[in-house]
Amino acid sequence: MSAPTDQSSPSPPASSSRRVLIVGGVAGGASCAARLRRLDEAAEIVVFERGPYVSFANCGLPYYVGNIITDERTLLVASRELFRQRFNVEVQTETEVMAIDRPARTIRVRDVRTGTSRDERYDVLVLSPGAAPIRSPRPGVDRPGVFAVRTIPDTRQIRAWIAERQARTAVVVGGGFIGLEMVENLVQRGLAVTVLEKLPQVMPPVDPEMAVPVAEHLAAKGVQLRLGDGLVGIEASANGGLSVVAESGSRLPADLVILAIGVRPETTLAKDADLSLGPRGGIVVDAQMRTTDPHIWAVGDAVEVRDVVTGQETVLPLAGPANRQGRVAAESIAGRATHFRGVQATAVVGVLGLTIATTGASEKGLQRAGVTRYEKVYLHPGHHAGYYPGARPIHLKLLFAVPDGRLLGAQAVGFEGVEKRIDVIATAIQFNGTVHDLAEAELCYAPQFGAAKDPVNLAGMLAENVLSGDMPLADWAALDRTPALVLDVREPHEFAAGHIQQAVNLPMSELRTRYRELPRDRDLWICCGVGQRAYYAIRFLTQHGYHARNLSGGYTTYKDLWAAGLIP
Ligand code: FAD
Repeated sequence: MSAPTDQSSPSPPASSSRRVLIVGGVAGGASCAARLRRLDEAAEIVVFERGPYVSFANCGLPYYVGNIITDERTLLVASRELFRQRFNVEVQTETEVMAIDRPARTIRVRDVRTGTSRDERYDVLVLSPGAAPIRSPRPGVDRPGVFAVRTIPDTRQIRAWIAERQARTAVVVGGGFIGLEMVENLVQRGLAVTVLEKLPQVMPPVDPEMAVPVAEHLAAKGVQLRLGDGLVGIEASANGGLSVVAESGSRLPADLVILAIGVRPETTLAKDADLSLGPRGGIVVDAQMRTTDPHIWAVGDAVEVRDVVTGQETVLPLAGPANRQGRVAAESIAGRATHFRGVQATAVVGVLGLTIATTGASEKGLQRAGVTRYEKVYLHPGHHAGYYPGARPIHLKLLFAVPDGRLLGAQAVGFEGVEKRIDVIATAIQFNGTVHDLAEAELCYAPQFGAAKDPVNLAGMLAENVLSGDMPLADWAALDRTPALVLDVREPHEFAAGHIQQAVNLPMSELRTRYRELPRDRDLWICCGVGQRAYYAIRFLTQHGYHARNLSGGYTTYKDLWAAGLIP
């Protein structure tokens, strides 16, 4: 749901001396203030920030806990003084906006230090209050030693707690982006970390099979994973520490607990002022970021925006969209033609050397949105040319529309070059690209950086092969009930090291001489290590009159699908 676009707005002209008040002085609010000043020298711009700092790097907070960032001051991207001197923007920190009186066009603000309140008049109001960590209602979540991570003072407290208690163990509740970043940084501090995650996978934004290598990597790094197990409560333990009680009945000892179970748009102000909220709980805005009140704009984590892939409304707590929305709101307030194109959920997280990146829709997101006409390919190419030392695999999943090949989404996991591939695909999605565009993309290549057929090209080529019928796909999910013959074309020693239960082995190296042994009256589902030799086998066999399909991604994908419970 979007507010109607009101081009005949009552906004005063750009050069009037309007009073523009902004609630929230970090990503969206600060970028809106700075951009508006560049467009309108006459406006009076005042930013109200509840916390002690304006424009701080919330994305850097986990790394301050981990001592990667050692000087707190580097988290302060801009100061009140900088806003005043450089932009003539007044910032009032430790000043909370308590209420909006829309008919009077005033807000009630409270000085957090003194408790005194006053009213401030506005011509234009911008809301960028962000999203608050979801505080679980479970007993014990308010105990000392249980932390959320949103502000610099939060991280200061965590650092002090670790130092004073000489903390050795931590439980991170929630295995999403912020949870995993905290895992990395607590491990970096030498703590033994357990992740308690209600879902059966870490990294909920990616599909379950793509989260399997992440879970394996965490386990290999000594992180204990409790997946599919929720939080019941947090108790004090006899030794002065904490005990996290899980739904399974487990009691996990911890010197500190991080709650990272997600965030919720901060909409109290908007709701109390009767601004429309959408089905996902965010503030409804139009493409100019204007709310249902023509004098009030809203940006950032608190708003609902359109997902450009599914066309549905969504909330997406990411810094890039918040910054761009702040800019769009400023342009709209200044009377310029502008619009926010929507989001496609491009995101990246690093954890203990592994990178996980995603753009567009996941497969489960497509299914939730009711999209059925799509296909997917898996591939596991090296991050650079195989002959150059040090190539490491990137596990890539590409989703595309059938039959036109429009790109719908991609997810990748690996050690190097992961976010570069996802960024290329993200850009292609932004320009309504197809798999043919990926196949055609002319990308950087030298042996240490990529390959003459970059993983992005390969993904596009594989998808083209599917669309053209050159490489029909088998349905992994039907593996346990298919009457097809599952044929593994790897060499015998590879087959012996592990294979799909019902598979028979006929190596690619012998296929041309032995193919007549295969049944012509039965579908052949072909598997190899990563899908490449299976593709060669399919091309050979189909040209000899066989019905052959590719188990995309091969045995590597099989293991992940099986571990994720997607193949019985
Ligand atoms: P915020 O930046 O959160 O700013 C909102 C501000 O409004 C807050 O400072 C709050 O104090 C203030 N406020 C709220 N209500 C009031 C009120 N009534 N009166 C006055 N002030 C008020 N995103 C990424 O894209 N990449 C990352 O790597 C990444 N890492 C993150 C790591 C952490 C630990 C966190 C917490 C977030 C991370 N994010 C990341 C998300 C990103 O920081 C947010 O999406 C972005 O900051 C949202 O901008 P915003 O302006 O909507 O809200």
